[in-house]
Amino acid sequence: MTNHTDRDNARKLLEELANIPLEQPPSTASAAPVLPPLSQPFSSADDAALWVHQHEREGDREYGALVLLCPDGKYVATTPIEGEATSFDLERLLAYNRETRTISHPQGYRCVGRYHSHPEYAEQTARAHPRYSAEQVKLHLALPSTGDLDIAFKHVDVFKNNYISSDDGSLVGYSIKPQYASGYAGFGLGSTPESKIRRIVTIGQLRVLDSGTVWGGFTGPITADWVLPGSAGQ
Ligand SMILES: [Zn+2]
Repeated sequence: MTNHTDRDNARKLLEELANIPLEQPPSTASAAPVLPPLSQPFSSADDAALWVHQHEREGDREYGALVLLCPDGKYVATTPIEGEATSFDLERLLAYNRETRTISHPQGYRCVGRYHSHPEYAEQTARAHPRYSAEQVKLHLALPSTGDLDIAFKHVDVFKNNYISSDDGSLVGYSIKPQYASGYAGFGLGSTPESKIRRIVTIGQLRVLDSGTVWGGFTGPITADWVLPGSAGQ
């Protein structure tokens, strides 16, 4: 029954999208990019993100991918592709109209998630945050940056799920509740990874899909009272 409803909803969404004209003036919209090869179908967006996470990555740059909803209610991911040292340009995967600031979904799919990886950046992070413990440096790199949160805020209607892999093997998924997405993404994040986590779970959701060497073996949803296993909290 649930599967049926999911399928119907997905089909309805795709029908709606089919009615949106794709042609846009070349000056304001990027052409629809050719998507990298897709994964096999998965029953959840998180499983599709885990598939992306398991790919080999070079440690010195970011990688990006999309999670897409298919007409049959299943999810696929695009094979991750290399970006820059500290950024990944989503326009390599999605057509974006800079004038209206709207994203066009890839034809035949609905984009429901974006993935990017954070490269090895521990030394620079420790230098920028001299009071962080080694564990906090790892946490910092496993979490969305303020810029990442800004994209999640601005495109809350498209990116129901946001995923980040870190070089320490962590994979987290996070989402922002639409009613909180109109403000400034940097507000209330505090000055530690723990305070940022508390803010994210207040305005949305954060879940650990792969603990790596970051989350003390924990996987699952993070709650506001979460403390790093083995730490005294703060
Ligand atoms: Zn990032």
